Amino acid sequence: MPTWKTELPTGKGHMGFSIKRTPAQGALQAICTCVDLVVCDTHFWGGRTFPCERRQLNEDGSETAGSCAACGKAVPYRTHVYVSCFDAKTRDHFIFECTAAAAQPLEDYRTATGTLIGCVIHATRPKGGKNSKVFIQTNTVNLSRVQLPAAPDIIKNLCTIWAIPMKGEREHENKKTQVRVSPDSEGVHSIRSDISSKMDPLPLADVLAAMSTTASN
Ligand SMILES: [Zn+2]
Repeated sequence: MPTWKTELPTGKGHMGFSIKRTPAQGALQAICTCVDLVVCDTHFWGGRTFPCERRQLNEDGSETAGSCAACGKAVPYRTHVYVSCFDAKTRDHFIFECTAAAAQPLEDYRTATGTLIGCVIHATRPKGGKNSKVFIQTNTVNLSRVQLPAAPDIIKNLCTIWAIPMKGEREHENKKTQVRVSPDSEGVHSIRSDISSKMDPLPLADVLAAMSTTASN
């Protein structure tokens, strides 16, 4: 017997969030659902994006041991910013990605109000083109009129998207602007060696094209 209901599923079966970037034409407009920015250095290498894992200096002066295969090959990294956003028209809840430079208005908003929840993002590329500079304007939505979904765990979702195994705890403090993904390093290394053992070496032209795409993104 089929089961007939009059209510939609509760959404608990959500299979993950996709990453959206500012479109070449038109605008991306959505409302932030998260409190803070997630900032992460990433590489575009071997046809995919993944976080940079170079050695980093912690705030307490200690160093995080890192070994980044991409840095080892002198592939440049880019600092990207991630926030969860809700499109009130399409009901789509997604992770918005932009460069650190483009995200300055978001940090200003967060500093001014203490949270990004309810911040309307209007992101455009005034010059057009897929990788031209992104311009973000912010506004405030009346939260008593819009029901926003709860923010997803952005870092967890990014790790899923980037196929990074997570182990136990991770460093994530809401008050900090820098959030570091602390993946299971052994797992990452196994992925890296897996990738390098399975992938054909990229032609130099492809690598250069990928790097220039990333550099101007
Ligand atoms: Zn790196």
